[in-house]
Amino acid sequence: MKRTKSASLCPICGGRKKDGRVLYSVDLGFGVVVVRNVPAKVCEQCGEEWIERFGVRS
Ligand SMILES: [Zn+2]
Repeated sequence: MKRTKSASLCPICGGRKKDGRVLYSVDLGFGVVVVRNVPAKVCEQCGEEWIERFGVRS
């Protein structure tokens, strides 16, 4: 069952996203926090990552 079509495609290269785990780092100003094994979607083609669990503010 695959319900996600266009939503699961990489907006950069159009490649497919797959489930993976990435290294997530955030600069807090006074230091950098690094979290390993963060669940994320990773593009099979260009390697772009999308963190899912965190509400990443920009
Ligand atoms: Zn891509």
